[in-house]
Amino acid sequence: MFKQIIGQLEVKNRLISSVKEGRISHAQLFLGEQGTGNLPLALAYAQYIMCEDKKDEDSCGVCGSCIKNNKLIHPDLHFVFPTANTDKAKGKPMSEIFLPEWREIVAENNGYFTINQWQDKIETENKSLLIPERDSAEILKKLSLKTYESEYKVMIIWFPEKFNTESANKLLKILEEPEPKTLFILVAHDSGQIMPTILSRTQTLKVPKIDLNELASALVNQFQLSQQQASTISALADGNFISSKNIIEASEIEEQFYTLFTDWMRASFKADVISLIAFSEEIQKIGREKQKQFITYCLHIFRESLINNFGTSNLNKTSQNEAQFLVKFAPFIHGANCLDIIEIFNDAHYHIERNGNPKIIFLDVSFKLTKLLRVKAPVLD
Ligand SMILES: [Zn+2]
Repeated sequence: MFKQIIGQLEVKNRLISSVKEGRISHAQLFLGEQGTGNLPLALAYAQYIMCEDKKDEDSCGVCGSCIKNNKLIHPDLHFVFPTANTDKAKGKPMSEIFLPEWREIVAENNGYFTINQWQDKIETENKSLLIPERDSAEILKKLSLKTYESEYKVMIIWFPEKFNTESANKLLKILEEPEPKTLFILVAHDSGQIMPTILSRTQTLKVPKIDLNELASALVNQFQLSQQQASTISALADGNFISSKNIIEASEIEEQFYTLFTDWMRASFKADVISLIAFSEEIQKIGREKQKQFITYCLHIFRESLINNFGTSNLNKTSQNEAQFLVKFAPFIHGANCLDIIEIFNDAHYHIERNGNPKIIFLDVSFKLTKLLRVKAPVLD
C-alpha cells in the first residue's frame, strides 16, 4: 500500500490521480536508484489499480484483491526479473521458477532490496543475472490470456537493464500496442543501461531521492533511533533507505567489536587465562570474514591510541565510547611496543585469510599481548 512507502509524496499523488482521472499509460518506467522505493511504488500502484474499494489516498487493504496483491499472488499481477542458471533452474532459468524466492525477498524487505541481495537469495554465486528470451515468451503468453479477476493485467518488470537483445526485441511490439487494459511497469535504476528501443516505448516517471526528514522519521520508527541519530544517518545515506539500513547495521557491528575488544584487552592485561580462552572460543564462532574485520577494527584502535598519545586527539576518528576508553587505554600503546603489536595483528590477519585455525591464532595473539601490554613506555626527558 502507498502508506507503507517512505516519503515520495509527490510521486504517490501523481500515481493516485492518474488512476482517478482514468489516464493510466500502458507502459511506464519507474526510474530511481535502488533504495528510493521504486519497486514498492510499483507494487502499491498495481494494488491501487486493482483494489475493489479504492479510498481517496490509498487502496482499502482488506478486499480480496488487496489481500492477494499483498501476498503477490493475484492472478492478474505478473512479475519478470533477472535470474541465473542455478541448481534449481537446471539450465533453463526464468522468473517463474524463482517466484517463491521473489515473494519472500519482497516480503522480508517491504520491497526495498538490491540486486546483490537478490543474487544471494537465489544463490547465483558468481554468475551474472539476465532476463532471457524465455521470459519474454512467457510475458506474451500471459498477456494474451483474459484477465482472471481484475479489470487490469499488470506486468511488473524489475531491472529491465538485464534484458538481452533477443528478449527485448521480442517485447517491442507489445510495449507499443498492448492489449487493452494491460499495464507494464518497468522498475529501472540506470537509464543508460536500458536499450533505447525499450526506453522510447515507455513513459518515464522519475523517482527521486527520499526527502531527508521523511526518511529520518521512518528510521526512528523502524530502528528505534533518536531523532538526532536518524537525521544524521538519513543525511549520510543521501535520502536512500537501503544505504541507511547499511549504515545502521555497520554501526551495530562496530558496537559488538568495541565490546569484544575492550573485554579482550582487559583480560590480556590481567593475563586472565580463563577469560582469554573463553574469548578465543567466542571469536571462533563469528566466522573468518568477521574475524578479519575485527582485526582491522583492533588496528584502528591501536592507531587511534597513538594519535591520542601525541596529544592530537582532535585528529581522532572515534566514537564517543571509544574516546572514553582511549583515555585509560592509549598510554599502554607507545613507541616501545606499538610496532610489535601491529605486526602480530597483521600476521593474524594473514593467517586467518589463509585458513589457519582462528582459535589458536587468537589465543597466540592474546599471550603475546599479555607481555607486550606490560612493556613500559619510554620515558621522555
Ligand atoms: Zn482493496
